[in-house]
Order: sequence, then structure tokens, then C-alpha cells
Amino acid sequence: ATPTALLVGTGRGAQLGVLIKGPEVLEGTRRVDTVVLDKTGTVTEGRMEVVDVVAARGTTRDEVLRLAGAVEGLSEHPIARAIAAAAAVRAIAAEAVAHASPDGPALAATTGADSVAAGADGVSAGADGVAIGSDQVLDFRTDAGSGVSGVVRTAHAGLGLGTRVLVGRPGWLEGQGVVTSPDLREAFRAAEAQGGTAVVAAWNGSARGVVVLRDPVKATSAQAVAELRALGLRPVLLTGDNAGAAHRAADAVGIAPDDVVAQVLPADKVAVVQRLQAGGARVAMVGDGVNDAAALAAADLGLAMGTGTDVAIEAADLTLVRGDLRSAGQAIRLSRATLRIIR
Ligand code: ADP
Ligand code: MG
Repeated sequence: ATPTALLVGTGRGAQLGVLIKGPEVLEGTRRVDTVVLDKTGTVTEGRMEVVDVVAARGTTRDEVLRLAGAVEGLSEHPIARAIAAAAAVRAIAAEAVAHASPDGPALAATTGADSVAAGADGVSAGADGVAIGSDQVLDFRTDAGSGVSGVVRTAHAGLGLGTRVLVGRPGWLEGQGVVTSPDLREAFRAAEAQGGTAVVAAWNGSARGVVVLRDPVKATSAQAVAELRALGLRPVLLTGDNAGAAHRAADAVGIAPDDVVAQVLPADKVAVVQRLQAGGARVAMVGDGVNDAAALAAADLGLAMGTGTDVAIEAADLTLVRGDLRSAGQAIRLSRATLRIIR
């Protein structure tokens, strides 16, 4: 190989916002024919918004959001950031109402709203802390690809020493003995059917609420998928999220329903890549999360979003610095062109 051509290739890559781990990576771009795309944070913004909160009988939407928000304040997951931010907005709004009319129907005013999405983006700073209002979270635990839990102690709400609050996938919660009521199951099912992402909040052994979120598809993703297709690659959407949300995103970017693999556990993402490889495919994988790292390493070509986690970037061959999926096609085209110069 001619080192000069390789340098030109990698230098141009840097200009395009593509970092190449080493010249040997170029070879991997040559024969890839399938591109597996992680959904959350890769095809979608990865910045979820809370669009609805459903409470079980005996609790309120405010309480669901407050307790779920307290625990999620300690997680970096896009779902967690959205819930913590929405809880912070709700807490500030509740306080404002309380101050405006100390004797008035403050609670009715704050629980009556149909949606907590309004303005949720503006106060993400407020969600960073461990304590929101008077809530304190102890013994926080996270289970990648499943959910989070923590013991929430609230000075004023009679939780005493604290209550372990879990937020996550229904299957994961049920595995820990959480009982889900039919009305919450229905709310969850309806949210997913509409292409939303829903998580369940539980405490004291029962599911208490459903938080419905939405993660917008990036404005550039449809074009990026079209470009990958033009390079002869078959796009496949891979996600731990539910089928409804997966198909909504796939439809928005032009990925066929048959090429959607949903509800995949983090440990199984690599198995999906390996299964495609066993079937004769040469697989490029694009991802951003901790849960994508093994699949990025196993792929014939791993591409990490520069906006993603360090673990993903380390596991990948290429980094798309700007977090723009269109860079994936550009990187592959550039690498192939560079190889042609060398040969
Ligand atoms: P993706 O593959 O789309 O990036 P993940 O593998 O990170 O998704 O998560 C899969 C599922 O696990 C989520 O849809 C959610 O149900 C649950 N989950 C993961 N992290 C959390 C969290 N911090 N809070 C609540 N639920 C979570
Ligand atoms: Mg992701």
C-alpha cells in the first residue's frame, strides 16, 4: 500500500468529520453489504420527550413523575433524561402554582394538565442533581437495557425511610415480582401501538404508572439511509425498544418492516450481527451506546456516533464526529475511493 494515499484518505475523512482508527480499517469498508443501524441516538435524536403520564388507581400522575424522575435523575439514558427533565418542569410549575395561591386548588391545577411535554427541553439543567425538591435517592442501581431503581426518601410525603422505586421495561419489572394492573398494561400497549416508547414505574411491589415518551427521528436520517442504499447496502434497524417505536422510526427513514429487529437485549445485539454474518452478510454496524459496543466490535466495520458513549467509540473502527448519520455513507464512499487509489 502507498502510505500517501492512506494519509490523503484519512485527512479527507477528518475534514468530513470522520475519524478512522487506522489504515487497516479501509479494507473493512470494501465488501460490506449490510448496515445495521441502532435506533436510539443513531437514527433518532436520542433525546426523548415525555408526552404522557398514566397513573394507576390510588396514585397521581404527579407522584408517578416525581418518583420516577427522582430515580432517573441518576441515569444518563435518554429515557431517564427526559423523565427527569419533565419531573423538574412539573416540580417548578407546582411550586409556582402553590406560591400564587397558597389556599387554592394547587394540586388540581397541576394534575389536571393533559401533557407534561411543554417546555421540557428548557430545564434539563435542573434534572442533573441528585435531589429534586425534597427527594433524595439512595442505593441507585442500573440494569442496562432494562431499567433503573433507587430508594427514594421524601421529607414531606410520608415515605419514611424510603421506598424502592423501579422504572423500566415491564418484563424486567415482572422478573422482580412487580404486579401490573390490566389498566396499566393497556395504557402501555396503546402507547407502543402508537409508536411511542413507554416505561413502567413501580414501587411497593406494584406498577404505579406508565410514562410515555417519544424520540424524534433525526432530520438527516432518511437521506442517510437512502445514501447507504445507493452504496449497495441493505439497512437493518436494530433496537432494544418495542416493535411499535421501532417500526415508526423504520417507516420514517425508509427501512422495510422485514428489516426491523426490535426488543433486543443489549447482550443479544452482537448475536444479531453474528447471525447476519453467519448467513453470509458483511456487516457494518452504526451505534452510539454502551449496549452497542460488542456489536460494533463484532461487525466487519464498526461506526460510532461521535455524540455517543466513549465505550462505543473505542469499540468502533470509525467515528462519525458530528453525530450525523449521513457521515456513514460518506465514510464508506471515501474509504472505497481511497482503496481504489492504492490498488
Ligand atoms: P436502544 O437499543 O433503543 O438504545 P436500550 O437497550 O438502551 O435501547 O433500552 C431498552 C429498553 O430498556 C428501553 O426501551 C426501556 O424500556 C428500558 N430501559 C433502559 N434504560 C432505562 C432507564 N434508564 N429507565 C427506564 N427504562 C430503561
Ligand atoms: Mg442507542
